[in-house]
Amino acid sequence: MDFAVVDEHTELRRAVAEIAADFGGAYYARKAEAREFPTELWQTLGRHGYLGASIPEAYGGGGGGLAELAIVCEESAAQGCPLLLMIVNTAIAAEMITRHGTEEQRSRWLPGLAAGTTRIAFAITEPDAGSNTHRLATTAVADGDGYRLDGQKYYISGVDEADAVLVVARTGTDEHTGEAALSLFVVDTDAPGLVAQPLPVAVALPERQFTLFLDGVRVGRDRLVGTEGAGFRQVFAGLNPERVTGAALAVGIGRYALARASRYVGERTVWGTPVGAHQGVAHPLAQAKIEIELAALMTAKAAWLHDQGQPAGEAANMAKYAAAEAALAALDAAIQAHGGNGVSTEYGLIPLWGLARLLRIAPVSREMILNYVAQHSLGLPRSY
Ligand SMILES: Cc1cc2nc3c(=O)[nH]c(=O)nc-3n(C[C@H](O)[C@H](O)[C@H](O)COP(=O)(O)OP(=O)(O)OC[C@H]3O[C@@H](n4cnc5c(N)ncnc54)[C@H](O)[C@@H]3O)c2cc1C
Repeated sequence: MDFAVVDEHTELRRAVAEIAADFGGAYYARKAEAREFPTELWQTLGRHGYLGASIPEAYGGGGGGLAELAIVCEESAAQGCPLLLMIVNTAIAAEMITRHGTEEQRSRWLPGLAAGTTRIAFAITEPDAGSNTHRLATTAVADGDGYRLDGQKYYISGVDEADAVLVVARTGTDEHTGEAALSLFVVDTDAPGLVAQPLPVAVALPERQFTLFLDGVRVGRDRLVGTEGAGFRQVFAGLNPERVTGAALAVGIGRYALARASRYVGERTVWGTPVGAHQGVAHPLAQAKIEIELAALMTAKAAWLHDQGQPAGEAANMAKYAAAEAALAALDAAIQAHGGNGVSTEYGLIPLWGLARLLRIAPVSREMILNYVAQHSLGLPRSY
């Protein structure tokens, strides 16, 4: 077992941190409050090749794996700039197209995704299906030389900033299990019949959320990604990168919160000593530091397993669970340690707390992870 960090990763961390630090937490908080996408940061990371860290070199990417992509997510977040869209745009859409797309689809989409000039949102969640993917009701029916899509999705991030949406739709029913046979389609955001209605959320996020209405949206056969009916398997393979990047984002947010809090409590003096000298202030921060480090370790393990082609589901789920919980604990401790300044707009901690809170729910909820671990790690009966 070798825990040594390779030079390439150290350099990648340093380079991404340097770019993100030029923007910093105040930039992110401003964008979050204004609900404005952090275009400048996204484009700068894209120009330097970091958005495409996991995209093959042949398509303009860095040729790395999930480990490298997770580093980009973590380091940007650790400078106060967590990029939620990396999860759907890069970890899911780019990964699905790389793994399952045709040569034509890869050439069409991957270079722009790597450069940051193209963005693809991801739409699986539906109002009536929720966590139960088998109940997805959006349909894609063969129609002439393509498909016709009808249905509804909600909480779809960044549609206003995207060129296309990777839509998960039902193309039939599995005759053995009776469950939905799912397929993946790349749908242009300006396709006739596709309407994106803003879905306001109280958490201040730079990425806006939408309800998507698909009413007779037509796509050609060239927009089917992978095999028709194999979408369930394809999507589930794509969930590990989603979970690992979600975990990396949470680890980065936690690191940022702890760095800010440590600086603050080291300087803030109200009884003659810095408030950080009081154990009631220091211990929650120290505890969160331990939890963040543990989550980072599991995140690295999950990314490594995925990149080795080994089963990564258990580690990816555990990493996402641990990182979201650790980030929330870190933000809570950091806010408390700042006293009244913890909730000020100037210190920018509340938008990050909102994001950390969101990461307990999405992209997969804490309860669904506990279900997975109970069933697959402990061998307990499935409860649902
Ligand atoms: C800000 C934001 C951005 C998002 N972005 C996207 C996106 O870009 N694309 C996309 O497709 N989706 C997106 N989502 C959706 C997100 O993935 C879902 O909200 C999440 O998976 C939970 O689904 P749900 O909201 O339908 O909750 P439900 O499935 O209705 O669950 C409600 C509660 O019940 C619990 N629960 C459900 N089933 C079980 C069970 N069997 N056992 C125990 N507990 C259970 C859940 O954990 C949860 O606590 C986003 C959500 C948010 C809030």
